[in-house]
Amino acid sequence: MESNKKSPEFNFYEAALVKRTPLFQDCKNIVVGGGNPKAQILFVGEAPGRNEDEQGIPFCGAAGKNLDKLLNEVNLSMDDIYIANILKCRPPQNRDPTTEEIKAHAPWLLKQIKEMQPKIICSLGNYATKFFLAKTNVNEMKNQPGITSIHGKVQDIEINGIKIKLIPLFHPAAIIYKRELTPLWLKDMEIVKEYCKKN
Ligand code: URA
Repeated sequence: MESNKKSPEFNFYEAALVKRTPLFQDCKNIVVGGGNPKAQILFVGEAPGRNEDEQGIPFCGAAGKNLDKLLNEVNLSMDDIYIANILKCRPPQNRDPTTEEIKAHAPWLLKQIKEMQPKIICSLGNYATKFFLAKTNVNEMKNQPGITSIHGKVQDIEINGIKIKLIPLFHPAAIIYKRELTPLWLKDMEIVKEYCKKN
C-alpha cells in the first residue's frame, strides 16, 4: 500500500504542525480517523500502534479488535461512532506521547472536532481523558485525575463553543490485559447510550 504521507489532502496548517515533528519522519502513514464522520459520538484514543501505522487506519490492531467486540456487546458498531487519536503518527515502540508531541498533534484533532461537532466524546484511557479534562491545555494534563478514578463520570466540556459531554472510558488495549475491567466498561457504555438517546 502506498503511504498517505504525501497526500495533497494534508495541505493545511494543522497537518503542517504534525509534519514538523520527528514522529512524522519515522512513521509509515498518518492515521487521521475512521468510522462515521457524521456520528454523534467521537471516540478518542492515544496514538496509532504498529498495525495502524502500516495501514493508516485507527484501531485496526489488537486494541481495535477488542473495541469492535466491546461495541458489539452494547449493540453499537463503527457506523455509530467516529474514532481518532491525539497523535496522528505512531511513536517509536509505542512509547508514551511527549508533551511537545501532543501540543503539535492535538490541533488536528481539535479541527476534526470543529468539523464533526460531536455531542459526546468518549476518551479512551489516560492521555485522551487528561487532555479533555485539562480543557485542551497540554501543560495542565499532569494535574488531572487518572482514568481509574474518573471512568464513567460524565463531564460537561466546551470546545470552540461546542458543548460536549465527555465520557471517560478505559482504553480497549488495557481491557485486553485486565479482563476484569470489561464489566466496568460495559456499564460505562450504557451511560454513553443513555446520553445518545437524550440528544
Ligand atoms: N491505540 C490507540 O490509542 N489508538 C489506535 O489507533 C490504536 C491503538
